Amino acid sequence: MIYIHIPFCKQKCSYCNFHFSTSLNLKDEMISAMAKEINLRQNELENKTLKSLYFGGGTPSLLKVDDLKFLIDEVLKYHTFDPNIEITLEANPDDLSQSFLKELSNTEFNRLSIGTQSFFEPDLKMMNRAHNSEEAESSIKRAQDFGFENISIDLIYGSPTSNMKIWKENLQKTIDLKVPHISSYALTVEPQTALHQWVLSNKIVKPNESEQNEEFYFMSGFLKENGFEHYEISNFAKPGFHSKHNSAYWNYNEYLGIGPSAHSYNGRTKRSWNIANNSKYIQEIASNKLPLETEILSEKEQFNEMVMIGLRTIWGMNFPKLKQKISEELFQKAEISINQKLADGFLVLENDFLKIPEKHWFLSDGIASDLFLV
Ligand code: SF4
Repeated sequence: MIYIHIPFCKQKCSYCNFHFSTSLNLKDEMISAMAKEINLRQNELENKTLKSLYFGGGTPSLLKVDDLKFLIDEVLKYHTFDPNIEITLEANPDDLSQSFLKELSNTEFNRLSIGTQSFFEPDLKMMNRAHNSEEAESSIKRAQDFGFENISIDLIYGSPTSNMKIWKENLQKTIDLKVPHISSYALTVEPQTALHQWVLSNKIVKPNESEQNEEFYFMSGFLKENGFEHYEISNFAKPGFHSKHNSAYWNYNEYLGIGPSAHSYNGRTKRSWNIANNSKYIQEIASNKLPLETEILSEKEQFNEMVMIGLRTIWGMNFPKLKQKISEELFQKAEISINQKLADGFLVLENDFLKIPEKHWFLSDGIASDLFLV
């Protein structure tokens, strides 16, 4: 799997602390640098047949379709595509114009992940999104008119500008629009964001956790009634529309991340991440250096990662595989907390898989971190 990080955005959303720049000055140099990184790292993936190619960001839909196509062709120089490859473009509603979609429909892209976030104008304004509620809806319809069936939308719940009634309307709209995949996250207040400043200066109330909890469980029940599988804490899919990209992460498959701040993993113990600085990234690549840092995961870190990721999915975590990852001594240590969680009902063991019962999913991060080896 390859992930390509496009580090540009039109404007800064109030809650976001991802890596991006709102200036497009370095766009052309960035695309050339990424093409070169694809070349420099052509031998990094063991499996050269890709099942997923994902353009994320940032806002990849800010690029011209020709630029996106150019990067796909660069990937194709060194890798082959599985016949059922998923090629995803993260796109913001305001970028999905008729002309953009028309061009895009003539490329290899077969999946769109649209940053809708909400269909409710006050939510979008508070989040400082570049689109309005009309564009939130019309962009999805337009994409469908151009033949994109495999569409995921992002939705944010628990916003101080929303409430349960609005959240229900957002979800109903999603059903009416016949979108087959949803990724949904609670609004969180991250450091160094406008939202954080507003909360500190009492300009806005902090998102309420118990309301978020209620909205989460309402969403889970409602989407299941409407034919979705709640297959990961934040992800819902109609049959046949699970995200291959996400599934590769959850199965600890190798992946290669291209572009500033992108992460890579060799499927075993080695992880690396590119520098989160656009001009330094371009400079380093220009001098044939890979602008990345690498770490080798210790036994404990591998265990903790498996726990963190595995317990977020409906399938859970393969218990025998977990046992193989660490020494007998460490496993005995881990078993004490696992047995405690099993006894308290926060974990269940089914057919060799450890899972968090769905009624405790909202607490999954805390449950997982209680199991970490330190
Ligand atoms: S468009 Fe996405 S990446 Fe860009 S600022 Fe908004 S949330 Fe962050």
